Amino acid sequence: MKPIGVFGGTFDPIHYGHLRTAFEMLQALRFDQVRFIPCGDPPHRGETFASATERLDMVRVAVAEQPGFVVDDRELERGGPSYSIDTLTTLREEFPDRSLGLIVGMDAFLGLPRWHRWTEFLDVAHIIVAHRPGWRAPDIGPLGELLVECGTHRISDLHELTHGCIHIHAVTQLEISSTEIRELVEAGRDPRFLMPDAVRNVIAESGCYGKLDAK
Ligand code: ATP
Repeated sequence: MKPIGVFGGTFDPIHYGHLRTAFEMLQALRFDQVRFIPCGDPPHRGETFASATERLDMVRVAVAEQPGFVVDDRELERGGPSYSIDTLTTLREEFPDRSLGLIVGMDAFLGLPRWHRWTEFLDVAHIIVAHRPGWRAPDIGPLGELLVECGTHRISDLHELTHGCIHIHAVTQLEISSTEIRELVEAGRDPRFLMPDAVRNVIAESGCYGKLDAK
């Protein structure tokens, strides 16, 4: 049984940086599926700009056409702060024998020691790190040590073991961020071609980041 990719984020909004990363992981790591899990209440950052429903809508329309992409709204359903360890634990209960791969960008990986109960993640899942422009893999500190202990270059390890490995995977570098998209819309400019048109339509219809004429 092929691994399940677990891709969490605020997705405020989802963009081609997320989608291309997930797609390359799906193909190159031979994942069965990638589950997009919008964060309900992100504990490590302030309020989101779009509502939870709007962010979920954007994720839904963005992944609708891609086989293997799955929307998973468990963090929104759960309520309260969205801790990744809780999400991983419920996924592990649901898929007891499957390999699970938590997908994070390098920026998020470097911040991992600030995440709630992060040292338990590898007891439940692998961690798959996507390179992002401008970020380097750690070679010192707790993450550097963890990489020495659990790092693997072998994709077969991610298939043969259900959890416990860290794999750094180079993906096409698309220097797009949700912050930049929100700022563009707020400044009255059009974020077209940074995300699927269907996502841009949700932004225009909801006005969640400011006025946008999607015509
Ligand atoms: P913001 O600008 O609001 O901080 P973001 O664009 O970083 O948002 P998130 O929803 O916070 O998006 O990111 C979810 C996950 O996707 C994180 O693990 C992040 O590292 C990764 N990610 C975001 N943008 C990219 C990108 N352009 N390429 C690869 N990974 C990305």
